[in-house]
This record gives sequence, C-alpha cells and structure tokens, in this order.
Amino acid sequence: MKTFRKELFFQTPTRRAFINITPEVEACISESGVREGLVLVNAMHITASVFINDDESGLHHDYDKWLEKLAPHEPVSQYRHNVGEDNADAHMKRQIMGREVVVAITDGKLDFGAWEQIFYGEFDGRRRKRVLVKIIGE
Ligand code: ZN
Repeated sequence: MKTFRKELFFQTPTRRAFINITPEVEACISESGVREGLVLVNAMHITASVFINDDESGLHHDYDKWLEKLAPHEPVSQYRHNVGEDNADAHMKRQIMGREVVVAITDGKLDFGAWEQIFYGEFDGRRRKRVLVKIIGE
C-alpha cells in the first residue's frame, strides 16, 4: 500500500473566505501515484473547515449570511470564549461546516458526485493556516 502526506497552506486577506482547493488535492493524488484508494483532507485548525459542495458564488454568499445569523462575529463580547481573543464565532462556524472530507480515488481521479468540489472554509483568517492531505491506496 502506498501512503502520501502533504500540508497545504492558506493565508486569506479577509476574516472569512471560501477557497476551492480541488486542484491542489488533485495535484496531491497525481504526486502520490495512487490509482485506487482514499484521500482525507482536513483543516488543521479549529477555526477553519474543509467541506464538499458546489462551486457557485451565490451559494457561498448564502453560507456566509447563514453562518453569520447562527454565530454572529459582533458583538464579540457576547461570547465567553472571547477573553483575550475574538474568534468564538469562528469555532462555531467551523463546527457547523465540518473538519474534514474523505473522497474515493478511482482510476487516479477524485470519484465525485455531480458538482462536488472540495473547499477550504476560513472563519478566522489573516494568518497562515494549514490543511492536511493524506492519501492511502495502491
Ligand atoms: Zn479561539
């Protein structure tokens, strides 16, 4: 069995952002040489997510509005976590959007359903953060 591990780095200029990381994951699969297996992609921070959905800008706007309704950033004083920091909302947004995805690799490619793409969801950006890609298979 082959194994492959790589960290991807992201530093968004804004507090919140959604980035399509499918091309980076595809590049990892090519580099790994795995034709049949699984790829795990997870955020290595508790204020960021990795999730699968549609690459459609209206939907990303809708997610942002929805997450802000569930866990508004302001006022930061509404959260007990925000003693010396201001990112309680980012922890909650990450919880809703998830930590990781696992995708089948078939014939050297991501075995996706219709319109599926992999996203990095940033909820407390403006600093360098990591995503882990782990691939196992043959
Ligand atoms: Zn925090």
